[in-house]
Amino acid sequence: MALKHQLKQSLREAYARVLFHTGLHAVVDRIMPRRMTILFGHCVDNPDCNGFLPRDMKIRPDSLRRILGWFRGRYALTTIRAGYGLLAAGGKGPSVVALSVDDGYRDNRTDLLGLLDEYGARATIFLETGAMDGAPINWSHKYHWVIARQPVQEVARRYTEWSEDTAAKQQIAALLDGSPDRLAYHVKRILKYEADEVDRDRTFQRIFAAAGGDEEALRKELYLSWDDVRELHRAGMEMGGHTIHHTILSRLEPAAQVREIEGSKQAIERVLGPGTATTFAYPFGRRWDYDTSAVEATRRAGYQIAVNTHAGTVGRGSQPYELKRLPVDDQSRLHLLVAETCGGFDLLRRFGLDLSE
Ligand SMILES: [Zn+2]
Repeated sequence: MALKHQLKQSLREAYARVLFHTGLHAVVDRIMPRRMTILFGHCVDNPDCNGFLPRDMKIRPDSLRRILGWFRGRYALTTIRAGYGLLAAGGKGPSVVALSVDDGYRDNRTDLLGLLDEYGARATIFLETGAMDGAPINWSHKYHWVIARQPVQEVARRYTEWSEDTAAKQQIAALLDGSPDRLAYHVKRILKYEADEVDRDRTFQRIFAAAGGDEEALRKELYLSWDDVRELHRAGMEMGGHTIHHTILSRLEPAAQVREIEGSKQAIERVLGPGTATTFAYPFGRRWDYDTSAVEATRRAGYQIAVNTHAGTVGRGSQPYELKRLPVDDQSRLHLLVAETCGGFDLLRRFGLDLSE
């Protein structure tokens, strides 16, 4: 299995390099149907806003410039909503590259907006609206804030002391003697998918406070305010829903899913006006993070399209409530993005060869 995976990775790499370096990408782009490639990330790296967030949530300005610089002129650079409109209208024209950023971080106004101005580009921003409305900041940010200041072993040990969730505590305790990287990975996974949410949020609030954390200071440092959102919207950015509390929708009852999904739309439209929030992003976005009732709630809430975080491009036949996206961060390699964007992997799939992801 490992060998098969390695072989696939090597083939994928070689194919993408050939497309990129020989200019064949332009040929493939012309023969493949018009498509939209939705890129997604979270933050532009800025130590004042997001210094403690993990590397895979950030992109350095120059890395983003390199990507946008390459796509500008070859593709229409726009928001998801505008790009989807272009595809749905049919007709000819360049394919679309839409940029999106999740959660609503403050750098989107202080850094991303100006950077997009340089390329005449705009983006879709998916807002976790509770963070702007004074709801407690979700535990994962407190987790990252604390482990940027204390060894992960210490944080994990404290969790096992202060939590009352026996099953989660036992799992974490069994990992304490392993490597810090392994511990960090598994603690995050256990807390995300297995721990009791109420206990986890309470325990992390306590760990955060004990480490000197201040909820309101963290909120200001990390997230946009509604004034920022108004300014971004006026500047042509699209605001999309991303639930109120950034919860894993598949872990909620249908009625709670509706509250989270509709609630984020209402919060945005209260500020920006009716009909402004028509695109939705499922938090975390893998197929196990949402389910059919969440998709149905999204449609019924009045969102017209929704995106997940599986890799691929969007065509006219794509399911509108499960549009795929490609991650961009400092690890992203341009030739692989280009191979996907030009329709290179879609072309291979027509011949039964799936090298995507
Ligand atoms: Zn998110």
